[in-house]
Amino acid sequence: MAGETPDSIFTKIIKGEIPCHKVFENEHVLAFLDITPLSVGHTLVVPKRLVERFEDLPTDEAAELARQLGPLARRIVAAVGAEGYNILLNTGKVAGQEVPHVHFHIIPRHAGDGLGYRWKAAPAEQDALAELAKKVNSQA
Ligand code: AMP
Repeated sequence: MAGETPDSIFTKIIKGEIPCHKVFENEHVLAFLDITPLSVGHTLVVPKRLVERFEDLPTDEAAELARQLGPLARRIVAAVGAEGYNILLNTGKVAGQEVPHVHFHIIPRHAGDGLGYRWKAAPAEQDALAELAKKVNSQA
């Protein structure tokens, strides 16, 4: 139908049209195991509403999504015996987002798993940081 947003692959999973290995579900959130995991237990946490970007979720639904991350991470870590985990949200193709439906990754970590976690960072000038903070604060 004209004007309707086409389903994402995750919407199809939410509707039960594509199978998944579910680890959590409530009114607004579904979590299931990633089909190409970076480590055992790699889980995707998805809002049931189809939006591409986190900032476009209604704030109560964003809050509900965030609320589930800690309890889920605790269960996943316990299930796979991990020492830690990364929570990742890729937004935009430039940041590595392939599926245009918000999803947090919970990626269990073990010592020596070789996945890495350091990005190349360089110290910034204080003046530049102050100027930038002003610019961000002036945004609506
Ligand atoms: P991203 O690059 O952040 O958009 O991540 C998309 C993730 O979705 C990848 O880790 C894929 O392995 C995962 N994925 C894609 N299709 C499925 C599916 N049918 N079931 C579970 N995970 C999926």
